[in-house]
Amino acid sequence: MYSGVYGMYDVIVIGSGIGGLTCAAKLAKNVNKVMILEKIHHIGGTSHIFKRGSYYFPMGGLSFSSPDTVLNLLGELGIQEKFKFYRNHFQLITPDFDIIYSQPFQELRKNLKKIFEDEKDGIDSFFTEIKRIMDILDNIEHWHPDYLIGEKKEHTLKNLSSTHNEEIELLEKYSQIPSKQILEKNLSKKILRNFLGSQGTYEPKMSMVLLAIMWCLMSEKGIWFPSCGIHGINELVYETFLNYNGEAKLLTPVKEILIENNQAIGVRTSKNEIFEANWIISNADYKKTFLELIDPQNIPEQYLSMIRIVPYFGSELCVYLGVNPENIDFSKVRAQHIFCREEIKLSGHLNLEDFSNREIEICIWSKNYPDSAPPAKATILLRVGFPYDHFSDWKIGEKKRKEGYWDYKKRLAGQLIKAAETVLPGLSSSIEVMDVATPLTYEDWGQRFRGSIAGWSWKVEGSQKLPGKLLIETPINNLLMVGMYAASELFLGGYPTAMYTGSLAADLVLEKSSTLKRN
Ligand SMILES: Cc1cc2nc3c(=O)[nH]c(=O)nc-3n(C[C@H](O)[C@H](O)[C@H](O)COP(=O)(O)OP(=O)(O)OC[C@H]3O[C@@H](n4cnc5c(N)ncnc54)[C@H](O)[C@@H]3O)c2cc1C
Repeated sequence: MYSGVYGMYDVIVIGSGIGGLTCAAKLAKNVNKVMILEKIHHIGGTSHIFKRGSYYFPMGGLSFSSPDTVLNLLGELGIQEKFKFYRNHFQLITPDFDIIYSQPFQELRKNLKKIFEDEKDGIDSFFTEIKRIMDILDNIEHWHPDYLIGEKKEHTLKNLSSTHNEEIELLEKYSQIPSKQILEKNLSKKILRNFLGSQGTYEPKMSMVLLAIMWCLMSEKGIWFPSCGIHGINELVYETFLNYNGEAKLLTPVKEILIENNQAIGVRTSKNEIFEANWIISNADYKKTFLELIDPQNIPEQYLSMIRIVPYFGSELCVYLGVNPENIDFSKVRAQHIFCREEIKLSGHLNLEDFSNREIEICIWSKNYPDSAPPAKATILLRVGFPYDHFSDWKIGEKKRKEGYWDYKKRLAGQLIKAAETVLPGLSSSIEVMDVATPLTYEDWGQRFRGSIAGWSWKVEGSQKLPGKLLIETPINNLLMVGMYAASELFLGGYPTAMYTGSLAADLVLEKSSTLKRN
């Protein structure tokens, strides 16, 4: 027992992102004393909305895949709220073609063959090969042992059919094959290879399996927006947690996870309060948890170096705009999300600030969430990938920047708005409210390691170094991880994967600690 202990809990969950909330709510339903400790002033982590003037903007998620999984997971928590899901569509505009790529996969195949007549056979071969993987991926979380833990995994391993064995072998094989290799074998046009390999204009970097996951989510399962808003789901789960007598403390950063004899036994907050618990669940991302919250002496060196080395997905610049849409020409827009690139100069050094030669995302956010803007107004987001290091020199402390940072952000935002005007003429003169987020914002307000936005690296060589598909269990006893970084691939999409890991972690705690269960 530590001196100055403020409380003893069955479970402490660090962080109230959707992974932490899902886990905490499921546990609070079954266990007596569950507490969430959240560093910042609101719940929901990066799936949070914030207000500027009379407009609301999303910090992170704009829409997500696998709505059925989300509804099932909510059902398990006892949440039966009826809200609708609206499908989101995605459009790519390049100098060579303009396509809705969220259409069903077989339709996409037909339409691409019309655009690229001389590549018909190659398109057919590629679609046949990747569709085979996509079919195997359907409902993978229910039958593939790598996507399960605890008793469910053991049961699945004992009962694997020979078909599943074959399918697992095939997935294993394709997860080692770079999609670039298969695309180069089948197709001669680089713009087509890049489109099929990145859903955009960049060189394919993913393995065939990850690419199949991306196409599965984009064109088969679809990407959706819930009528209550993504933040609305967070609020429902949080209310449920409180109704089950869960306890939460906002503005309470955890500074250290306490470990004794390789077992997590509690946490120390930034005010040096100590809370003990039988289980610690971290929803802070993986690198933050292991590189910042745990004394390295308590972590096996090999594990620690793996976490240091394997990269995360990068970050981005985002411009949030509240606009008067009257004078904007929307005639090129056919979807909620438009990815566009004015020029494609593939050789030479990529100038990050040359937005005409970058792929930029335009999201007409008020199409999803009309309440984000006052009547007759609209909200629009512009996003472009940016490495953390491009901005790191501006940082002088948490939420502290060198002078000139806002001017620099404003200049970049102006350039990005100008580039977006090739799709949305009239945008720059219609702006009523603007804010700008950089990787530093996602680091300090989103609490993500170096502002990462989308899980572990999507590059073929990245996730293979991690110790599995699910990273919920750790080498430290009674310390579990939940959230989007607790899976090596976002196989259900970001938000549902975070929920899924939260739910599995709760199941594991309940399985392993039957004595904690409430009668
Ligand atoms: C810019 C951006 C765009 C995105 N777009 C999409 C999208 O379109 N679709 C999609 O599905 N996903 C998207 N995502 C991913 C999105 O973040 C996930 O979908 C989901 O919200 C992640 O939830 P999580 O449970 O992993 O936790 P997070 O949202 O990362 O929350 C973690 C929580 O832990 C807290 N925390 C961290 N450290 C501590 C500490 N020491 N003590 C206490 N609390 C702590 C944080 O404050 C935070 O509340 C996007 C993310 C970003 C940043």
